[in-house]
Amino acid sequence: MLRGERLIRNQLFVREVNARVHDAARQLGGSVGEPAQRFEIFCECSRKSCFDRIPLTVSEYEALRADPTAFAVVPGHEIASIEQVVERSERFLTVRKFHPESIRIAAESSTPTEGLPKPDRKFGGPPPSSG
Ligand SMILES: [Zn+2]
Repeated sequence: MLRGERLIRNQLFVREVNARVHDAARQLGGSVGEPAQRFEIFCECSRKSCFDRIPLTVSEYEALRADPTAFAVVPGHEIASIEQVVERSERFLTVRKFHPESIRIAAESSTPTEGLPKPDRKFGGPPPSSG
C-alpha cells in the first residue's frame, strides 16, 4: 500500500467521526442552519496519535465538506509531501491532497452532511477494485 493511501485512510476515519460530531452539534444547538454556531472537530491530519481539536463554525465546516478532497488540520500538522495548504485561518488550515490515488479515495468516501441519506455500506471496507 502506498504511504499516501495509508495516511489518507486514517484521515477519512477522522472525517467520518467529525461528520457525527457535526450532526450532534446541530441537534444539540437546536438552531439547525445557524451558520455562526461554533463547535469542535478533531484534527484531520495524518498523525495517528493526534487528538487535537479545532473550533470552527457550522458554515466553515460545511464549506470544508463541499470539497471531498479537503481536510482541516491544526496549523503545523500539514504534511507538505502529500498535501497542499489551500486556506489558512488562525484556528486551522485547509489542506488538499495532490496524489491522484489519494484524491480518488477521498472523493469516493465523501462524507454526507446532515440531511442527506447515509450511504448503505460500512465505513472502512475494502475499496472497489478497478482496472
Ligand atoms: Zn493533527
